[in-house]
Amino acid sequence: MSDVLKSLIEIVGKNGVSTNAEELWYYSRDPGVLEPHRPDFVVAPKTTQQVQKIVLLANSEKIPVVPMGAAMALTGLVIPLKGGIVVDMKRMNRILEVNPLARYAVVEGGTSQGMLKAYLQKHHPELRHSLPDAPAATTIAANVSLHGQGRLSQQYGFNSDMVTGLEVVLPTGEICSIGSPSLGPYWFSKSPSLPDLSGLFLGWLGTTGIITRLGLMLYPNKKIRDVEIFVTDRPELVPEMLYRLTHLELLEDINAWFQPKPLVFKDNYQITIYFTGDDDDEVEFKRKMVWRALQPYMDSKDGGFMSIQYMKQMLLEMPQRTIADFADVAKGGGFEYSGPIIPIEHFPRYAAKLIELAEKYNLLYAGAARLISGGHAMMFAVSFAFNREDADMMLRVKQALDEATEFALQQGGIPWKPNFHEQRMILQRMDPNTRRILEMIKRNLDPRGIMNPGNWEAN
Ligand SMILES: Cc1cc2nc3c(=O)[nH]c(=O)nc-3n(C[C@H](O)[C@H](O)[C@H](O)COP(=O)(O)OP(=O)(O)OC[C@H]3O[C@@H](n4cnc5c(N)ncnc54)[C@H](O)[C@@H]3O)c2cc1C
Repeated sequence: MSDVLKSLIEIVGKNGVSTNAEELWYYSRDPGVLEPHRPDFVVAPKTTQQVQKIVLLANSEKIPVVPMGAAMALTGLVIPLKGGIVVDMKRMNRILEVNPLARYAVVEGGTSQGMLKAYLQKHHPELRHSLPDAPAATTIAANVSLHGQGRLSQQYGFNSDMVTGLEVVLPTGEICSIGSPSLGPYWFSKSPSLPDLSGLFLGWLGTTGIITRLGLMLYPNKKIRDVEIFVTDRPELVPEMLYRLTHLELLEDINAWFQPKPLVFKDNYQITIYFTGDDDDEVEFKRKMVWRALQPYMDSKDGGFMSIQYMKQMLLEMPQRTIADFADVAKGGGFEYSGPIIPIEHFPRYAAKLIELAEKYNLLYAGAARLISGGHAMMFAVSFAFNREDADMMLRVKQALDEATEFALQQGGIPWKPNFHEQRMILQRMDPNTRRILEMIKRNLDPRGIMNPGNWEAN
């Protein structure tokens, strides 16, 4: 048994470490199209102190460390590109505090979206958090590490904007608090009139430290949720429609999407509009305002509301599980999406590009955009389904996604949850002075280069 394995067992106990071939196989991949790469060890800590000891060990031995949530980012962000230790955070899953009046929760770094949702439903049904449509097992810390977005992002911004404090184990082993918890026991703000150091960890894809605790804003959970779908066959009108909807300042979530299958959706562009209320009057008022905002397009016969009774329940599900059904459209259960963050007026050109790429590479596609912060931006998901048995199809998906990223960069978009190759494309195009700041931060926080290496590296 190697010394490293012995030390890891001393830190977390023998049930918390594995070098079994079957488990290493599992931890060497994610569900997307990137090549797998084997880790040397998998370890599942239960406390911040254990995470600290693992990182100190990795630091002294110069072994890569890859923090992992549920490995569902789809862009291979937890594939251990240079081997080393995968730190599976799922056993750190406690909900430590809910402050119902200040509306925030404090959770451990492996807590899943589903666990927080279930906990709030049981103990604080008047509160909710911004749940992404990712599977319920995905973790909150991972989601903010990649600037995820969820059901409340239309109103309140990226899920990472909703962080109220962090506890992080730095790559050099120090345990560090960020925001109000650095000054006292309260987790109400990540930057209460201080320089906002959370930016050193949010969006860094686990390359600057391991988040072991985080505070998260909670929001009112209204008693009723409802949904409408507006359809148009004129993509060029979608940005204007979205603008009119966000002008209302009333809506929960707004998604614009299009896909060629099933045929009922072919050649159309759907806008799904979610709204909430504490009673029927509030909901009906909002529905009336939505109809009023889109009335001009009904008058000009450019669009109309769809009858959605048969799919309403599915649409109101959180997370919306049927999104993953797309993986089976090509048979063989795979799909991958990357999604640039773009200004909303660019929706039509990205929609045209996605259809062009699907034709060029002979792939099945779906396009979906979620509005962020009242329409200041949107995440435009470029999704392709693939059959895992078909290596050629997987290669074509990879090529199409690379081309989509190149297109996004040309258009001034920002690739979201980029894989390591796309990260390089971003760094190469970035203002050199900005890139130097990023490199300086990374070098200073992680002088031995052990944290999720291969990510946010220019070469
Ligand atoms: C069907 C489907 C729907 C989806 N819908 C959405 C959506 O609506 N919104 C959305 O945002 N995403 C969505 N996603 C993408 C993705 O699943 C989510 O972003 C999810 O939050 C990723 O969480 P994870 O635990 O699987 O992350 P992982 O893949 O495990 O990790 C992602 C990144 O975070 C880092 N990381 C993990 N834990 C830590 C930690 N404790 N400290 C520091 N770094 C860490 C990892 O190193 C990696 O770089 C969807 C995915 C699928 C399959």
